[in-house]
Amino acid sequence: MRFRREPNANRNFPAHCPYCAGEGLFPDETSDFAWKCTECLRIFEVKFYGQDAPEHAPAPTKSTEEALQVSLAHHGHDAVLRKEK
Ligand SMILES: [Zn+2]
Repeated sequence: MRFRREPNANRNFPAHCPYCAGEGLFPDETSDFAWKCTECLRIFEVKFYGQDAPEHAPAPTKSTEEALQVSLAHHGHDAVLRKEK
């Protein structure tokens, strides 16, 4: 299959028009990111710039074994706790 131009890997595919929520969207030749809404005739762009880092990242989860040991210690089952080497 031959393309008139190479596909734009950074083009996003909106499901709805941001102005009228119409679903009749087609790529427009205005730019590599432009979409045309067939319902309100607006032409708009959708671009992905990246993902912002969260201000407070969640703590990494414990493994099942670590979580079990913490739970056993919390509930006072010291006799079955795995001993540190
Ligand atoms: Zn629209």
